[in-house]
Amino acid sequence: MPEGLIVKALSGYYYVQKPEGGTPVQCRGRGIFKKRGESPLVGDRVVYSETENGEGSVEEILPRKSELIRPQIANADLAVLVFSVVRPELNLILLDKFLVHTEFARMDALLVLTKMDRIPEGEEGEKIRRTVEIARSLYSSIGYQVILTSAHEGQGLEELRTALAGHINMLAGQSGVGKSSLVNSLVPGLKLETNEISVKLGRGKHTTRHVELIPMAGGGFMADTPGFSQLDFGELGIDEIGSCFREFRELSGQCKFRGCTHTHEPHCAVQNAKERGEIAESRYQNYVSFLAEWKEIKRRY
Ligand code: GDP
Ligand code: ZN
Repeated sequence: MPEGLIVKALSGYYYVQKPEGGTPVQCRGRGIFKKRGESPLVGDRVVYSETENGEGSVEEILPRKSELIRPQIANADLAVLVFSVVRPELNLILLDKFLVHTEFARMDALLVLTKMDRIPEGEEGEKIRRTVEIARSLYSSIGYQVILTSAHEGQGLEELRTALAGHINMLAGQSGVGKSSLVNSLVPGLKLETNEISVKLGRGKHTTRHVELIPMAGGGFMADTPGFSQLDFGELGIDEIGSCFREFRELSGQCKFRGCTHTHEPHCAVQNAKERGEIAESRYQNYVSFLAEWKEIKRRY
């Protein structure tokens, strides 16, 4: 039986894209999924059978690598974190917060800095360039690819296309940073939907809209809904925050105490690495503030 990728789910149908492309096959799910409490998701790789009327039936869901709740999507493997260098200015706290979430979701992350053409001349511009350079060198040293772009002048777009090829990509970033502008030049015709929460009938209600995967010219897909719209640490355990900092992860095995929080414990490999300047001050400070934020959330609920 053939395999394919669910690129859209709507009104009880799953639209399965064959590896060679073409129009997706409209499939029903098998009743057995319901019995087992499973439900196929957009992004699932599936085995399907073709029925006589040109439709199909999803027979089996292949093992998932990752699963997100908002937007509901399986196997997204690259989070494209978009930050502008001006208006709004680069926010490393928010960036580290996004990275905690991508690591937790077991996705790789790519950092895209936009609006490079908007850096002004003169002293203010020099300051911004220095900040951009510090961020570029910091995050690439931790192992994240960083691409400097301008959607208006085309800077970095070829590099970005190459980095996204072959992946199931999902954008994330504050509004106004240039996500839609990037998408317009990468996937012409794709209108980015916002993954917002609406209030219906006076009661707070989450509307999970149906995400769709749009094929990209170079191979791979782009989700039409940005991810990580809510960034609290509710789903994480406190000891999971540290392991979401890539450069802490390997070191933490060398801390003297198991379950070391890397804050006050003696013989802590993370604190020692920070003292030696091998872990950036900003990363460590953000980690400490996330621990405090986590405790605050748990205190309130
Ligand atoms: P989104 O909310 O993240 O989707 O951001 P948009 O793509 O809508 O962009 C927000 C504003 O920034 C718009 O006015 C864009 O024209 C502008 N913008 C986006 N990318 C660039 C860029 O590379 N250079 C400049 N100068 N402006 C940009
Ligand atoms: Zn430690």
